[in-house]
Amino acid sequence: MMRARIASHLLATLGLLTLCLAATFAQAAPARNVLLFISDGASWGTWDMASYYQYGQKGMQAYDRFPVKLGMTTYPLNTSTTPTHNAVPTVSYDPASAWDKTPNAGTYGGFPSHFNGYDYIKRDYTDSAAAGTALATGVKTYNNAIGVDNFAQDLAYITQCAKAQGKATGIVSSVPFSHATPAAFAATNRNRNNYGEISQEMIDNPAVDLIMGAGHPDYDSNGRLRAAPVFAKETGSGGGYVSRTAWNTVNDRAKWQLVQTRSDFEALAKGALALTGRKIIGLPQVHDTLQYRRDGAVVGRGASTPSGKAYIDTVPSLATMTRGALNVLGKGGDGFFLMVEGGAVDWAAHATDTAGIIEEQIDFNRAVQAAVDWVQAHSSWDETLLIVLTDHGNGMPMGPHSDSVAFEPIRNNGAGNLPGVKWHYHTHTNENTLLWAKGAGADRFYDEVDGVDPGLAQVLGFNDGRYITNTDVAAVLQAVIVAEPATCAR
Ligand SMILES: [Zn+2]
Repeated sequence: MMRARIASHLLATLGLLTLCLAATFAQAAPARNVLLFISDGASWGTWDMASYYQYGQKGMQAYDRFPVKLGMTTYPLNTSTTPTHNAVPTVSYDPASAWDKTPNAGTYGGFPSHFNGYDYIKRDYTDSAAAGTALATGVKTYNNAIGVDNFAQDLAYITQCAKAQGKATGIVSSVPFSHATPAAFAATNRNRNNYGEISQEMIDNPAVDLIMGAGHPDYDSNGRLRAAPVFAKETGSGGGYVSRTAWNTVNDRAKWQLVQTRSDFEALAKGALALTGRKIIGLPQVHDTLQYRRDGAVVGRGASTPSGKAYIDTVPSLATMTRGALNVLGKGGDGFFLMVEGGAVDWAAHATDTAGIIEEQIDFNRAVQAAVDWVQAHSSWDETLLIVLTDHGNGMPMGPHSDSVAFEPIRNNGAGNLPGVKWHYHTHTNENTLLWAKGAGADRFYDEVDGVDPGLAQVLGFNDGRYITNTDVAAVLQAVIVAEPATCAR
């Protein structure tokens, strides 16, 4: 359709402006493959902590060298947890307030405020449902909303747009696949906690070709087989993360190929697993997170891990799952859209768990590296777009003296050592977050710039301060997948 439109335009203006139109075509050419990596709940310090532990310095991640670096604001439409049936934004982000170093003797959310800026970014934050919906649909909404607006109306999400363009689609997460972030790319529901309904919709979704994530009903958080499965309620909230009906569908070999063991995930990653041609669902043998929720008293000690806990050895890494997903989706004729979430980064941030968040963020970083390697080996940056971002900050991890030195950065203690960290909160924040992009259409992000946030440049040294908001990501995804003018209907 895009090519036809450009062709007719060219014919109509034959002999005129050919170079200009050729340039327009080049700019608007869709990306063949789009990879969206979301580290859930990564404050600025979270990226730094993992890099210091991994490399003893910043700047060593593949995405540190990506050409596009922008801030991204994440605030929702409002902070209601139910639809309020209007389109009125009630929260926002103000750079001057966010970086205000005026001392503040108060407390908020059970933590001392220390500075007005800290106090400001603790308020009016998004949850992962509204944030995921903004990224996937381009619409800000209320907290708890999965793919629905503030009138509770279903929205078109990017996975559907990609499928309508003939692309293969995949959703991968280190937390249950029916959790808020992956759900926002493959379901619509008024409440993120309705795991039974959401799991069923995702399993039955004709727009989704591959799902991988935790949530296995038969295993506990340590990867041990349960005496009896734990299912999500069919409707409403409660129980596990997959309904009994959805689980029965997953086990229907006429519909899905179920991958469960670490060895099968590793075979899939190497292209060595026999494929049945059905859709792929990968459910590692663990309940709620790949590794984060494991108990050291059960799984044992591991001297080489940041937490000192051994890893569950029956569970694949997020990088292995990503390689497997790319192996399947990369075979398609018209390219693919893949979302990969480091979901347990957010779980560790809620627990203000420095060692745990480093483990999870490194797992995420290795998954990104696996994708970069795939692009270089099997595709190119001319046809593939890779985006790395977070859906919101969480926990405000900063340096050890950040109670008296405003915005003091994380202290680097060298590779393999836990960095110096002080946590200032236990939940999400409204901070301006970090985004990196490289590849086909990456420059398109600069068309969405909302303004300049001096703190990104002066305090973090991240970029020149330019930033977008989360719904702009959906606009770019639509532009590179569907082409301009981007339309994306259910
Ligand atoms: Zn989140």
